[in-house]
Amino acid sequence: MKLVTTKSELDKVINTEHSELSVGLVPTMGNLHLGHLSLVKTSLSKTQRTIVTIFVNPKQFGENEDFGKYPRTLEQDLKKLNALPQSENILVFAPQSEREIYPEGFSTTIEVSGLDHALCGLHRPGHFKGVTTVVYQLFKLTNAHLAFFGQKDYQQFRVIEKMVQDLSLPINLSMEPIVREKSGLALSSRNQYMSPAQKEEASLIFKTLSQLKESFLENPDKAMASRERLLFAEPRWQYLEILDAHSLKEVSEQTSKVLVAGAFTMGDTRLIDNILFRI
Ligand code: AMP
Repeated sequence: MKLVTTKSELDKVINTEHSELSVGLVPTMGNLHLGHLSLVKTSLSKTQRTIVTIFVNPKQFGENEDFGKYPRTLEQDLKKLNALPQSENILVFAPQSEREIYPEGFSTTIEVSGLDHALCGLHRPGHFKGVTTVVYQLFKLTNAHLAFFGQKDYQQFRVIEKMVQDLSLPINLSMEPIVREKSGLALSSRNQYMSPAQKEEASLIFKTLSQLKESFLENPDKAMASRERLLFAEPRWQYLEILDAHSLKEVSEQTSKVLVAGAFTMGDTRLIDNILFRI
């Protein structure tokens, strides 16, 4: 495994070592857990070199969000990556300065419209602009052929997919399944903000989404009614939605894939999760 922290070091490796190889990209904000590592393993199995980026992107955090306290654990992250089979095919790009991604005077924003009217787009204004801007830069800096993202951030995946399509970016995308704890809680770097009791309670997120899915398959109208009841009975749900997974709008006759998604606040910790299924 190799670590580079500057754009010029990254360029050098790409130009000397990657020119003939298929390259996978796994963008992360670090504090790696088994969810991230499953993306890396998938990339290693499908490409000859995998670039893992570790960058806590200030542009995707709102003013009152957790940018300052977001866990930065580079040393442990490197150990975890190094312990993976085929780790010799991993290149880690962990810029230590924001300027490696956004040079002095950088003033461009990439914004995809049309998919941010719901879910996190509604509740985190500006978040997806920050995501698409950094992901665009990472695609360009790494020259990757294939990029891997988690279904956990389903709306993020859809926004990035639209950017790639609209700008004809020469990269393919792959969305990978959500890795969960035994309790059903989706792994997240933010889980460590919670006490053990909160973590246990947080398993209700996946349970609720699963119940809504089952209920929807039995009787969609009943599921819609119980979604509303659950949302209003529990103020810690920031949103709890059953949507057409393609349009991220209401389920209709045309819907073939359904997204059940929720955002829940446990103390100061905001958690998201979702389930996708065909009908
Ligand atoms: P983050 O470091 O939170 O920006 O996440 C980096 C990538 O890992 C994103 O594509 C996420 O969707 C993905 N990811 C985060 N948590 C999980 C999980 N529990 N299972 C699978 N992928 C995940």
